[in-house]
Order: sequence, then structure tokens, then C-alpha cells
Amino acid sequence: MSDQKNVVVVGLSSYGLNVAKELGVKLPSGYRVIGVEKNDFGFNPVPALRASTIPGWEDKVLFPLNNFFPSSSKNLVFGGVAVTGITKDSVKLEKSITIDGVSTDTISYAYLVIATGSRAAFPIRIPTTTDLEEAKEGFRDMQKQVAKAQKVLIIGGGPVGFEFAGEITEYYNGSNGREKKDVTLVSLLPKLLHPDAKDSTHQKCLSALKKAGVKVILGHGVQDFDPNQNGYLGEPKKFTLDNGETVEADFVLAGVGPRANTNLVAEAFGEAALEQPTRQVRVRQTLQLVDYDNIFAAGDITNIKENKMAAWGSKHAAIIAGNINALINNAPLKDYSPMGGLVMLASFGATQAYGQLPFGLSLPSWLGARLKSKTLFAQMMPELLNIKSA
Ligand SMILES: Cc1cc2nc3c(=O)[nH]c(=O)nc-3n(C[C@H](O)[C@H](O)[C@H](O)COP(=O)(O)OP(=O)(O)OC[C@H]3O[C@@H](n4cnc5c(N)ncnc54)[C@H](O)[C@@H]3O)c2cc1C
Repeated sequence: MSDQKNVVVVGLSSYGLNVAKELGVKLPSGYRVIGVEKNDFGFNPVPALRASTIPGWEDKVLFPLNNFFPSSSKNLVFGGVAVTGITKDSVKLEKSITIDGVSTDTISYAYLVIATGSRAAFPIRIPTTTDLEEAKEGFRDMQKQVAKAQKVLIIGGGPVGFEFAGEITEYYNGSNGREKKDVTLVSLLPKLLHPDAKDSTHQKCLSALKKAGVKVILGHGVQDFDPNQNGYLGEPKKFTLDNGETVEADFVLAGVGPRANTNLVAEAFGEAALEQPTRQVRVRQTLQLVDYDNIFAAGDITNIKENKMAAWGSKHAAIIAGNINALINNAPLKDYSPMGGLVMLASFGATQAYGQLPFGLSLPSWLGARLKSKTLFAQMMPELLNIKSA
């Protein structure tokens, strides 16, 4: 067995990968990073809706993990292995792995970083059991389901619902043999994108939807839908809204808000470790769990008051890696400064984007599109995973 002390990172997506990378650079000798990810690949959710619509984009959302640390590195990454339990000094795995030549289903740690993110239905997140090729096939299958659809119902007017409306109306626009679809977006909230969005942001989103021919119904909920069943229904079905109105659809996508994936934390440390009703992990300003000095949380699972975005991954990582080093060296810890105010940018197809910046500033649609819509930050995951071409 190695005499290295382990810093274990659970969940390797935008946050876990940033943290593991930063720790790989910053940890002193005697310590190593061990990253554990339940999927055998890294998944970037940002281009997932385009990958569900446009053939070829499935190659821009999923990437192998095996290049992350060089083979000569003391640091290790294990993909395709879920963490099933946490104690105050070890994590339990769903199956055995080999570390230092020894087969084990338990990894002891000196420090732990939990970055298990959000739970949502495919295609917003990926089902657990898939390997990389199966996951790509899942996107190809969804593209075929979208192609078959004639009447699309999008439930939710947040970024997921809005972005999916943009993808589907831009690609199925009546040219190149791709017939237009009848698209309806229904949202319980009266505002598009975010309840705190400025009226002007909401209005710009509304006119983009209307210009694209989307029927928009705001302030009403769809009754009796399954948030875990996105896709083609086989035949048209009538959905009833809370005002009695009905919408007929043969394809449904629900973008009704991901939930924090924190069951592991609750099972390990009790419900008191979570904030209610969000079920996000309660963290100190140092990103340590409230009651545990050697356990940190990063990303979507935390109760930090900032909009949940991949964009803050390197900021969380810098604080966590710095603070783990500080604990090792008995130095003072630093506080994280959350991104205050509403910052968000939602694409609408490849040429439009709407959202707002700090201090309520807006971004012209063409500039937002240049920043996000054309590429959907598809380069982020291969860059993090040290994969040259994507
Ligand atoms: C359509 C869409 C558009 C978006 N647009 C933007 C944008 O423009 N800009 C932006 O910054 N953000 C955007 N986001 C948000 C961004 O994708 C998330 O904030 C980000 O992915 C959160 O990263 P995370 O690492 O915290 O969690 P996740 O991405 O949810 O990753 C969690 C990881 O943990 C793994 N995991 C879970 N449980 C276990 C376990 N028990 N054992 C091992 N591994 C486990 C999962 O497999 C996963 O890899 C968008 C999201 C969507 C859906």
C-alpha cells in the first residue's frame, strides 16, 4: 500500500474536474488526488439539448476520462464507479477497484470533496448505467424521436425549456426537408428564464419565442406529466393545464428545474447537513461542510447563494484546493465570494442569446450568441480532460 494520504473527489463534471485539476497542481508531497465518477466519461450538460436535436452534436457532449492525469502521475481517476456511501474518513464504492495493486471497494481519505451535482432526466443529465458509446447512442435515439415529433410540448420556461425551443425551431425550420413542428411552451411562472429576470430580459425572450412560431402559455401548470419521461410518446396525447385548457402533443420535454443530488450526504451526515427545502448541502464560506473541517462541497449541490452554473467551477476549485493546502499547513483559510445578482445567458439556437450580467446589465443578443450559442461551451469538457480535438 502507498503511504500517500488521499484527497478524494466524488463526481467528475465541471466542478469535480476543476477541483481535481487544481488539487493535482497544488497538493504537497505525501498527498494525492483520487477522483471517482459514476459514469465512464465526462458529460457537459450545456450542449445536451442541441445534441438531442442535431445529429453529430452527440460527439460534443461526452468525453473519456482516461487522459485527465498522465499515466506517470501519482494522482488517479476511476470512471464507471459510483460512490455508494460516505463515512467521516472513507468512501464506499459500488464495486472493487485496484489501487496500489490491491483490490478494494473502500477508499480512505484525509480530505473529501463532494461534487455530485444535480439530478434530472435525460437529456439534461445522463442515466447511471451507460458507458460512453451507450450514452452517445442515447443522444442519437433522442434526435430520431425529435425528428418524428409533430407536436412538441415544452414544460417549463427556464433556461432548459427556452433553449430547447430555440434548438428545435431553428433546426426544424421548413428547409432542407426538415418540416416545421408545432411547438408549445407552458410555464407555471409568469416570467421566462428566471423569476428574478428583468422585465426587459423576459420580453426579449418572449419575442424570440413568438418570432420562432412557438405558442407560449405563462402562469399555468401542466397537470399529470412525468418529469422523468422526456421524448416521443408514440401518438398524440392531450395534456390538461390548471386553467382547464388542453395542449395536444406527441413529444414532451420537461425542463422543470434540476434537484440537488445530495442523498449520499443526507445518508452519511443526516438531514441536518442539508438546507431545506432546496436539499442543497450547507457549506461554510470556506466551502467546508458546516460540521466537518475535512469535507468540502462544490458546484450545484451547495447552498451558496449564486446562480447554479458551470462557469464558477474554477473559482470553487481555487478556494477548495487552497483551503485543503491551508489545513495541511496549518495556515488560515480563505472565504469564497459568491457571484452576486442574477448572471445567466440562455442561447436560442446558434445565433441568438438572451440573459443578464451583474448589476442588471444586459448583453446584446449577437454578442451573447458569439459567447455561447455557436459553440455552447462544447470545448470546456475536452479542455478539462486534456483531450486535444473535439
Ligand atoms: C441546458 C443547460 C444549459 C446550461 N448552460 C449553462 C451555461 O451557459 N453556463 C454555465 O455556466 N452553466 C450552464 N449550465 C449549468 C451547468 O451545466 C451546471 O451548473 C454544471 O454542470 C454543474 O456542475 P456540477 O459539477 O456541480 O454537477 P453535474 O454537472 O451534475 O455533475 C455531477 C457529477 O457527479 C457524478 N456523480 C453523481 N453521483 C455520483 C456518485 N454517487 N458517485 C460518483 N459520481 C457521481 C455525476 O455522474 C456527474 O458527472 C447549463 C445546464 C443545462 C442543463
